[in-house]
Amino acid sequence: MPRTPLIAGNWKMNTTLAEAEQLATATVRAAADLLDREVMIAPPFTALAQVADTLHDSTVILAAQNICWAEKGAFTGEISPPMLKELGGTMAIVGHSERRHVFGESDALINRRVAGAMENQLVPILCVGETLEERESQRTTAVLEQQIRACLAEITVTDPAGLVLAYEPVWAIGTGKTATPEQAQEIHAFIRKLLTAMFEKDIASQIRILYGGSVVPDNVDALMGQEDVDGALVGGAALQADSFERIIHFNS
Ligand code: PEP
Repeated sequence: MPRTPLIAGNWKMNTTLAEAEQLATATVRAAADLLDREVMIAPPFTALAQVADTLHDSTVILAAQNICWAEKGAFTGEISPPMLKELGGTMAIVGHSERRHVFGESDALINRRVAGAMENQLVPILCVGETLEERESQRTTAVLEQQIRACLAEITVTDPAGLVLAYEPVWAIGTGKTATPEQAQEIHAFIRKLLTAMFEKDIASQIRILYGGSVVPDNVDALMGQEDVDGALVGGAALQADSFERIIHFNS
């Protein structure tokens, strides 16, 4: 069965409410005629409620940029799965490299986020990726295997649509340096094989693996043309309505 491509926009810590409204409206319009792919946006927490209104009755999926495992309580700075679901959100980015490297989130913590999202029927987009130093010392696959096994420890996947992975080499995020389509495919195939060792083959073959790291209109088609690249997680280019429109209209 072919995997439905997913193009996901991560707005990071950007957008006033007015900008969020404009960008969400443009995304809804741009995605309206696309039936063979999914489009998702992850605004900052402050704009989630407003963007939820704009996405109402559209095909665009609402996501959070992070999610806690607990339902409520003493977790300053966090939002819970029920809070996101109340707004109509169905996905959450977890383990983004900025969470790992700027805020020190560990694989063990990210594992709790993945579990909490899935227990609440939210789809986590689990981000993994190696640093430049790890790549240059030939440790890319070892690092990815460690991250994936640890972040998915004790996780059971019964529905492949319930989990998304994103391969985001740290050296490619926000730097303008993109993995070549061949480099992306090589790593995505490695991740697919690892998932096959961890889960049932039918499940592993259907889990979507996105590529992220300086995806722009000029490179999206070649990346999406790779067999195991099932979508893109887009940062900077998701903040420009025209760039994101071109990206979601990729031709592979
Ligand atoms: C990201 O935020 O996940 C990302 C890949 O950013 P950018 O597209 O700007 O590199």
